Amino acid sequence: MRVLSVLGSTGSIGTQTLEVVRQNPSDFKAAALTCGSNIDLLYEQILEFNPSAVSVFDEKKAYELKKRLCAEHPELPVEVYYGQEGDVICATLPEADTVLGAIVGVAGLKPVYEAILAGKDIALANKETLVAGGDIVMPLVKEKGVELLPVDSEHCAIWQCLWGEKKENLDRILITASGGPFRGFTREQLADVTCEKALNHPTWKMGGKITIDSSTMMNKGLEVIEASHLFGVDVDRVDVVVHPQSVIHSMIRLRDGSVLGQMGKPSMILPIMVALYYPDRGPRLLEEFDPFDPKCCNLTFERCDTSVFGLLDLAYDAGRKKGLLPAVMNAANEAAVGAFLDGKIGFLDIEKTVRKVYEDYEPSNVLKFNLDDVLGASDEAFAKAKEMLKI
Ligand code: NAD
Ligand code: MG
Repeated sequence: MRVLSVLGSTGSIGTQTLEVVRQNPSDFKAAALTCGSNIDLLYEQILEFNPSAVSVFDEKKAYELKKRLCAEHPELPVEVYYGQEGDVICATLPEADTVLGAIVGVAGLKPVYEAILAGKDIALANKETLVAGGDIVMPLVKEKGVELLPVDSEHCAIWQCLWGEKKENLDRILITASGGPFRGFTREQLADVTCEKALNHPTWKMGGKITIDSSTMMNKGLEVIEASHLFGVDVDRVDVVVHPQSVIHSMIRLRDGSVLGQMGKPSMILPIMVALYYPDRGPRLLEEFDPFDPKCCNLTFERCDTSVFGLLDLAYDAGRKKGLLPAVMNAANEAAVGAFLDGKIGFLDIEKTVRKVYEDYEPSNVLKFNLDDVLGASDEAFAKAKEMLKI
C-alpha cells in the first residue's frame, strides 16, 4: 500500500488523485492533505479520507477549519497546520511514503524539496517545481535515491515509452500539444480574446492557471524544460508537435529511427495511476480506448507558430541559458497569468510582461545556486511583474 501526502488536494489533480484513492482503498491511503484556501472541500475530504494531518496555506482559513472540526467532529484525530510550514509538515509526514505534488506554481517547490530530503517518493504534477528548481531537485533525487514519478500527461507518456530503453538510445523527444483554444489565431485576433474564452480548453479540463498557460503555449514551454530535467536531455532535443486531438500524449524517437508513442483519452486519471502504481499497473478506471472513435480516426500534426505564441520560444531560450532564468520567467508568468485571471490585464500583456521581466533580469555569474536563491529570484521576478502591471 502507498501512503500518500496529497499537496493541493482540492485542485483538479488533487481531486482526481483522491478519486484514484477512493476507487482503490486497499492500495492507497491519504495520510495528509493540503490546500490553499478551499476549506469547504478540504473539510469534506477530511471526513471521507480521515487523514492524520492537513494544512491550509491561508492562516485564517486554517483556524476556521480547526474550529469547525472541533465543534462538529472532535473525535477526528486530524492535526491542522497552515502556511508554508504546514505544507512542509504534511510533505514530510513520517507515515507517508509518497508525496503527490499538485500545488500550482512555484509554491510547490519547497514542500517537494523537503519531501525528497526526507526520503519520500514524489509523484509530480507541479511542473513549476522542475522549471524553477530542476537543477537543484534532480541531483537531490539522485542523492536520496527516491523515485520521481511524472504525472504531467506528456511526461508520463515519455517515461512509459522509455521503460526498458537504454538512455543512450534516446534521440529526440516529441512532446505533443493540443494547441489550446487559440490555435490558428493571428496576433491581431489574440489582442482581444477574453479570459472566458482562454479558459475554454478544447480537450482538457484543468485548473485556471494551467488552462491559461495552455492558451498562451507557455504550458508547453514549461513542459519542454520539465522534460529536459526529467529525462536528462537539452531542450533542443525536445520538439513540440501540435496535435489537436490530444490522443497521442507524446512520443520518443530512438537512435535507429523507431518512434514510440503513448495513446489514450485526455484524462489525468491514467497518468496519476501510472505514477502511483509504478512499477506495477493498476486496474482500469476509464472507459476503454476506442480506436474507431471519430476523434481517433484523423490524427493530425502541425508546428506551433511561435511568431504568434512567442512564449514558447522564450521558454526554449530560458531552458538553454539555465541558471535562475527559468525561475524568473516562471514567476513573471505566474504574476501575469494571475492578473489576467483577475481581469486586470489583456491576453497579450501576459507575454509582454514575462518578456520584459525576463529581458531585464541580470543573471549573476554564480553557477551554483540553492533553494533560497531559486525562491529569492522567483519572489523578485514576481514583484517586478506586479510592479510593471501596477497591480
Ligand atoms: P488547481 O488550481 O486546480 O489546484 C491547485 C491546488 O493547489 C489547489 O488545491 C489549491 O488549493 C492548492 N494550493 C495553491 N497554493 C497552495 C499553497 N501555497 N499551499 C498548498 N496548497 C496550495 O491546479 P491543477 O490544475 O490541479 O494543477 C496543479 C499542478 O499540476 C500545476 O502545477 C499544473 O501545472 C500541474 N498539472 C495539472 C494538470 C491538470 O490536468 N490539471 C495536468 C498536468 C499538470
Ligand atoms: Mg501536460
